[in-house]
Amino acid sequence: MNTITLNNGVNMPQLGFGVWQVPDDEAERAVGVAIQAGYRSIDTARIYDNEEGVGRAVRESGVRRDDLFVTTKLWNDDHDYDKALRAFDAGAERLGLDVIDLYLIHWPVPSQDRYVEAWKALEKLYADGRVRAIGVSNFTVEALERLLAEAQVVPAVNQIELHPQLGQAELRAVNAKHGIVTEAWSPLGQGKGLLDLPLLAEIGGRHGKSPAQVVLRWHVQLGNVVIPKSVTPARIRENIEVFDFALDQDEMDAITALDSGRRLGPDPATFG
Ligand code: NAD
Repeated sequence: MNTITLNNGVNMPQLGFGVWQVPDDEAERAVGVAIQAGYRSIDTARIYDNEEGVGRAVRESGVRRDDLFVTTKLWNDDHDYDKALRAFDAGAERLGLDVIDLYLIHWPVPSQDRYVEAWKALEKLYADGRVRAIGVSNFTVEALERLLAEAQVVPAVNQIELHPQLGQAELRAVNAKHGIVTEAWSPLGQGKGLLDLPLLAEIGGRHGKSPAQVVLRWHVQLGNVVIPKSVTPARIRENIEVFDFALDQDEMDAITALDSGRRLGPDPATFG
């Protein structure tokens, strides 16, 4: 498994396992399968309502805690400084973990305009050693630059919607300029539409790989951290088998050219 070194020196697996929309008991089972398959990074959030199942799977995996990387996120109604500190404690308790590897502000919610206050709480948790790295999610260029103007700690990660049909070239460049790793959510475009494109089957055919593997390999070669989701054991295993082949530049460019600006999720400039 490739790792990416974050701006504070912490190593994060480049490919992890996402559990959005997976009920708690199913998340426990799926995370167990994923860890068995070789995943070492799990992405959950308060709002997914499955931190307990994720925590059980992590604790019962038989893999040393130091070898696993667990991300969770602060929800939008907890941007108040004290509430954010309490929300972190509650999340860590649900996970059954003393230290979280990465804690993210889930959405900036510009209309509420309290993400700088929330960030101060994350900086406190980081200073106290409760979390190994802190970052943001769904931050636009505008929100990111405003945060950076007031932050003591530069976010390690910006987790954003990113797949071949939403390439996010500008935001990726801004993240990179500030030393912030880009992490792709819905990296497979949620499966719908994207994975049926003939181009991906054709490229996959040349390498003996599936369309999903081709898309994940495209992310890996761009340098993105990527967190595909599946609850199907065969697909969970398939999605991690992307480190034994390489796309050439023409293949990379052809996939990048699928960008249509199509968002699957809400617009972070207005969501919340
Ligand atoms: P995804 O792009 O990972 O797609 C998942 C879907 O693709 C599956 O439900 C399945 O239908 C299909 N699929 C998966 N593997 C496949 C395979 N090998 N072959 C064919 N089809 C396959 O979508 P996602 O779950 O939206 O995103 C991944 C993770 O990103 C989430 O679980 C969550 O952890 C994170 N996320 C974060 C945010 C955020 O706001 N920060 C938002 C959405 C998702």
